Amino acid sequence: MTKQTHAFQAEVKQILHLVTHSLYSNKEIFLRELVSNASDACDKLRFEALDNAALFEDTPNLEVRVSFDEEAKTLTISDNGIGMSAEEAASHLGTIAKSGTREFMAKLEGDQKKDAQLIGQFGVGFYSGFIVADRITVDTRRAGLAQDQGVRWSSEGTGEYELETITKPGRGTDVILHLRDGEEEFLKTWRVKSTISKYSDHISLPILMKKETWDADAAKQVVTDEWEPVNKASALWARSKSEVTAEQYEEFYKQISHDSEAPLAYTHNRVEGRSEYTQLLYIPQKAPFDLWNRDKRGGVKLYVKRVFIMDDAEALMPVYLRFVKGVIDSADLPLNVSRELLQESRDVKAIREGSTKRVLGMLESLANSEEQADKDKYAAFWTDFGQVLKEGIGEDHANQERLAKLFRFASTHADANVSLADYVGRMKEGQEVIYYITADSLAAAKHSPQLEIFRKKGIEVLLLVDRVDEWMLSHLYEFEGKALQSVAKGAVDLGKLLDEDEKKKADETAESLKPLLDKLKEALKDRAKDVRVTTRLVDSPACIVVEEGDVSGHLARLLKQAGQ
Ligand code: ADP
Ligand code: MG
Repeated sequence: MTKQTHAFQAEVKQILHLVTHSLYSNKEIFLRELVSNASDACDKLRFEALDNAALFEDTPNLEVRVSFDEEAKTLTISDNGIGMSAEEAASHLGTIAKSGTREFMAKLEGDQKKDAQLIGQFGVGFYSGFIVADRITVDTRRAGLAQDQGVRWSSEGTGEYELETITKPGRGTDVILHLRDGEEEFLKTWRVKSTISKYSDHISLPILMKKETWDADAAKQVVTDEWEPVNKASALWARSKSEVTAEQYEEFYKQISHDSEAPLAYTHNRVEGRSEYTQLLYIPQKAPFDLWNRDKRGGVKLYVKRVFIMDDAEALMPVYLRFVKGVIDSADLPLNVSRELLQESRDVKAIREGSTKRVLGMLESLANSEEQADKDKYAAFWTDFGQVLKEGIGEDHANQERLAKLFRFASTHADANVSLADYVGRMKEGQEVIYYITADSLAAAKHSPQLEIFRKKGIEVLLLVDRVDEWMLSHLYEFEGKALQSVAKGAVDLGKLLDEDEKKKADETAESLKPLLDKLKEALKDRAKDVRVTTRLVDSPACIVVEEGDVSGHLARLLKQAGQ
């Protein structure tokens, strides 16, 4: 193929413009993105080579090399990973296939913070090279293709890119950045090296740079031809806890999650026994933009004996914990395991159960902590993720009780943060059930006439106003032996909570109003199943209730909204 010019997809043009203009204040992240692409490429080769060892050609040692040329003002990131064919180069570096690109652009345009982490989150990391380069040349050859089947991709990062065929002896990819004027700092070993160790220390393959030595004659540091590793090159999760600092745990989290904030909590364990694995799991502070998408695959990467197998291995976590990020490295699974196999594997089931317990344990220790800081963390977690956690009540029967203890609600007692245990602790003498009301909003719940008698008697009622609450209630019937009872259903039997006088009065009233009730029943016979005297109202003259076991008024409205 002789040199051909192609136009970027329209979105790419927009992204390029935004990235180069918005992220300048955090420009060094381009190194993190390009090194992580190089490392991904090596992971992909290792994975494909499981079935086809010939792909390794004669260089099975995977590595990334970073070098610069002061004269030419170029910085090069090379890897001997999977490489790209011409079609792959055009599609991976010329179009954006991933969903979420629009959200990314909206965020970059809107967000004053110009959050540099977003760039990785949306899979457009490669383009960050143009923050510091006015031309990027990518020489690449896909593993398995002949040497003369290499490709050179080149662009100034504006409207178009060029493609041509080249001969490339080694497989893999060289990304050559032609630095803009003023970006000469990236032609200095210390600058590049310190940036790499900041962002890439946990990467498990060696990242090499040329060694520098002191040249006494020239009285300066000079670059030699000897390559040396600049990262630790041992997978972070495979190290023992005592060897990893809190900063390293945090940086690793940011790298795998593309989150700019530190994690809320994490847990790192080696599990031995029937199933052997290492888990490093994180809970984020804030919900991602697509948390509500239940099809979204989880955030846990699967490794088998340090070999990367797949991102987002959803079988490793229940759906309701899809916000958890991290790594699970199994010692038992076969290297060629597929997503389908994962679903059926007993080892995976054991890993999922063990990991779920760990995550719930992390949440419990925050929720039950004596420290105010932990309590605040839990409250913040609940605000962002509570609704997702509630899905667990139907999905994970084995952990129902633990989950129910983690739930927090509003009630007539407090606007937030009421646990079921708090509620039970405050139950009145003689109260046998947990009362709740569902509504669209806290205000609507609070003003419901159904609550009048409960207010008067000082009985706490949970105010359930999340959309998932009705669904949750169809799985959560009781807590510590106390049934959950709607105040808006059936004839609320306040039973032992009414005193003798009140009961007597209620019976007399019912008796004396019988003729009126009969008339009302007759008049409303097509519209109401029953008309009865109630003890639940104090100030309001009447209210509508639904039959015990029927769809609640609130759920009926939700279903109607959903077109059912
Ligand atoms: P992401 O890494 O999130 O997919 P990027 O913009 O960083 O997004 O990279 C886009 C795509 O380009 C990658 O998914 C990969 O297919 C390809 N790519 C980038 N760098 C390399 C590389 N060094 N070797 C092979 N493929 C690469
Ligand atoms: Mg990338």
